[in-house]
Amino acid sequence: GKIVIAIDGFSGCGKSSTAKEVAKKLGYTYIDSGAMYRAATLHFLNNHTVLSNPKEVSKALDSLKISFHFNPEQQTQETYLNELNVEDEIRTMRVSEYVSEVSKLKEVRLALVAQQQKLGKSKGVVMDGRDIGTVVFPEAELKVFMTADLSIRAARRQKEILEKGDLIDLEKIKHNLVERDRIDSTRTESPLLKAEDAIEIDTSLLEFDDQVEQIVSLAQE
Ligand code: C5P
Repeated sequence: GKIVIAIDGFSGCGKSSTAKEVAKKLGYTYIDSGAMYRAATLHFLNNHTVLSNPKEVSKALDSLKISFHFNPEQQTQETYLNELNVEDEIRTMRVSEYVSEVSKLKEVRLALVAQQQKLGKSKGVVMDGRDIGTVVFPEAELKVFMTADLSIRAARRQKEILEKGDLIDLEKIKHNLVERDRIDSTRTESPLLKAEDAIEIDTSLLEFDDQVEQIVSLAQE
């Protein structure tokens, strides 16, 4: 039968692209939990929400609506914030540099985890993030924890950005990955951490198709 697959790991390990392809192969639904934290971050930036002010945070959360819609032309799922397509905007450095600060907040996590659990209610889901195997779906039948060398992660991310036609400095990407990993791993609220029963996959030396195949075959066991 269909299962829930949780994919966690450090920033820029290729979790999203891998999870997306695994979902496609299995006929599952892919849910990008990071996109939800990014959309929340964009909403906070747009509203000039002061993160240290609980009233402002809770007010911003009250007016936050995140949804995913399929784009038939691109054949991909896109993220919407209050009915606006923000798929490109949530991937910008402005959001990347702030998202881990927003993700530290307990109120933010409570709201987004609740939505993630709802989205994953029907089996046949692949969700990627930082706390999927530990907090969102501790009962997931398959948990994967992805890692990769920093320089390889940064180079892959740079290639993605260049392919979109943007220029980005490799050191800037590296710095952002290191900073996010540091904040995500040391926060009090659901820190990034490998679930005890997660299978670790180091993708440094793996070809993309091989890492997809590994997870697909684990799912079919
Ligand atoms: O997956 P992605 O790199 O897009 O996630 C962006 C940020 O969102 C992470 O660096 C982390 O701060 C936060 N995040 C999180 N919990 C998740 C997914 C993402 O805290 N489940």
